[in-house]
Amino acid sequence: MQKFLRRTWAEINLDHLVHNISVLRERAAGKELMAIVKADAYGHGDHIIARELNRLGVTFFGVSNLEEATCLRNAGVKGEILILGITPAEYAATLAEQSITQAVFSTEYGVALSRAATAAGVRVKSHLKIDTGMGRIGFVAQPDADPFDEILAVTRLPGLEITGIFSHFSVADLIDPDADRYTDQQQQQFQQLVDRLGQAGVKLPYIHLQNSAGIIRRDIASCNLVRIGISMYGLSPADGLADALPVKPLMTLKTAVAMIKEIPAGRYISYGRTFCSDRLMRVATVPVGYADGYPRALSSKAVMLIHGKPAPVLGCVCMDQLVLDVTDIPEVTVGDEVTVFGRSGEATLSAEQLAAQCGTIGYEIVCSISRRVPRVYLRNGEAVETVDYLLSFHPE
Ligand SMILES: *Cc1c(COP(=O)(O)O)cnc(C)c1O
Repeated sequence: MQKFLRRTWAEINLDHLVHNISVLRERAAGKELMAIVKADAYGHGDHIIARELNRLGVTFFGVSNLEEATCLRNAGVKGEILILGITPAEYAATLAEQSITQAVFSTEYGVALSRAATAAGVRVKSHLKIDTGMGRIGFVAQPDADPFDEILAVTRLPGLEITGIFSHFSVADLIDPDADRYTDQQQQQFQQLVDRLGQAGVKLPYIHLQNSAGIIRRDIASCNLVRIGISMYGLSPADGLADALPVKPLMTLKTAVAMIKEIPAGRYISYGRTFCSDRLMRVATVPVGYADGYPRALSSKAVMLIHGKPAPVLGCVCMDQLVLDVTDIPEVTVGDEVTVFGRSGEATLSAEQLAAQCGTIGYEIVCSISRRVPRVYLRNGEAVETVDYLLSFHPE
């Protein structure tokens, strides 16, 4: 099971997932959790995460597309799966067969899905997607746009079974009065629409609006489901919310030292000759690079942890390798474990810290960890399962 495993790998702590779900359940105060597992569960491995969530009693999942939904069904994941983005209408029968719920976000799309479903003799479970201010997809509900009549017509289309309604916050993570007013307005637009549809006799079993930031910053009594992504993986939606929930990061990215050498002053390191030593140094080459998802924008900026101590990245991050300064960590030898981010002894380097150093967000750091990085799942500190995307791919 451990074969090929000493290059670069991601450890995923399932005990932290158990912990985070209990924290989020408590915060959700009776609302059901929809676990957002799009993008391979934010890089954590969707089928393993979803199966573990099933074991914890989570039975609602959110994904971005039909392939991700199918991957979960193929893995035997039970419960509801909502596709948050578009599925071409021609796949209406596939949606129905696999009992997958589709977001319906416009009249044009609703009519197309209804036609395809009717032609295939099926009904597709659908959640109405409302755009209250994100500006992406959805029936537009803004102070200057009322989608009520349009939506009412869509709820009467054959071939669609409307089982819910949702909208999405765009600035719920910002601690700022203007952002709060915008979020208030989004919430009001959504609430009014839900109330009016209810009065018109439209049944909406699932009503949901909150993402991670939404559940941290708002209590919304009228919703009965919350969509949890980043907090479930133990990261925070924004800098200002880092300590808002006592969640723990699931992912630690590790690599191992390939080569160590001493270099005199005047030696160049890596592409572009952007780093030149100015003294006698000890440097370690590690087999991790931007093709593993480690941002090239961290060249000469970040550190990694070895024996709990920081080792600065020297020069350019290459596709598959980079070089660290280990002058101040004399005990390092070839084969030693290196923490790219996550915990190393008493020291921690978070994905959010790396993100801040290269102008992105923690979400992008974990989502970008590529398929050539095996995922090792830990329970009680022990590896219980390994997923290697390359070794498990068998072309027909
Ligand atoms: C990705 C996504 C979420 C999850 O957001 P987090 O900030 O990760 O909690 C929720 N809802 C929708 C519509 C999304 O696309």
